Amino acid sequence: MTTPAPLAAAPAEDFEGQYVRPLVDRWDQLIDWDRRRASEQDFFVELLRGAEAHRVLDVAAGTGYHSITLAQQGFDVTAADGSAEMIERTRRNAEAHGQSFRVLQADWRTLRQHLDGRYDAIVCLGSSLPHLFQEDDRRAVLAEFHEALNPGGVLIVDHRNFDAIRRHRYQSSGNYYYCGTGATVTVAHIDAQLCRFRYDFPDGGRHHLEVYPILSAELSSLLLDTGFDTVQTFGDFQEDFDLDEVDFVIHVARKS
Ligand code: SAM
Repeated sequence: MTTPAPLAAAPAEDFEGQYVRPLVDRWDQLIDWDRRRASEQDFFVELLRGAEAHRVLDVAAGTGYHSITLAQQGFDVTAADGSAEMIERTRRNAEAHGQSFRVLQADWRTLRQHLDGRYDAIVCLGSSLPHLFQEDDRRAVLAEFHEALNPGGVLIVDHRNFDAIRRHRYQSSGNYYYCGTGATVTVAHIDAQLCRFRYDFPDGGRHHLEVYPILSAELSSLLLDTGFDTVQTFGDFQEDFDLDEVDFVIHVARKS
């Protein structure tokens, strides 16, 4: 049996250091694209069409699942991510799926330096925003996203249900976003400032990801503070949900 890899020495705030090659190599196994598609159905496509979005920026492309899915649905997609490993994987997956769109490595904190014009929609999915540990960073990045949107634009940003996790109620159904059946995801540590997830793979590989456990109401109010006009919240893709029960919370913030 392979000895599990030790906890990465990289500080939690170094998101790039957390997405080491062996974890990136396993990311698609963690997602299970077919099961993710079956659980999401057309949730994001319908939201984006409802917002009359055409030009869409995926700021946390990861291995490219949403960028590729949205491109297949006819959106004009730009895929961005701060991790060189992830962005390389997006490129390869896009090619494998016969899709071609702009792919760029960009840290959210300097996002607009990399952009060519504004977007009708920005998606930041898969519980990515919690990689920002400092409230000042979260505010600055949400303001950056707001600025990168056209008037009438929409930001869709999600996170794991840290309200429940902080009450020690983590029991992911495995039905949403990270649907792969091989890996076991557990919470190795939780307090108000840090959540450390542990990923155990069937081949003995072990990885950790450290994030800031943002609360749903905390993000909604930050979105309003940073200039968005309205925020609608969904739990596991349902508008009517119980915050004690859902795995993921999705915020849809609109700019007038
Ligand atoms: N959206 C993908 C998915 O659902 O599979 C990936 C989600 S993964 C949990 C988080 C992603 O956010 C990683 O690809 C990471 O590189 C990216 N990320 C984290 N912090 C970032 C930052 N400051 N700037 C740009 N990308 C960042």
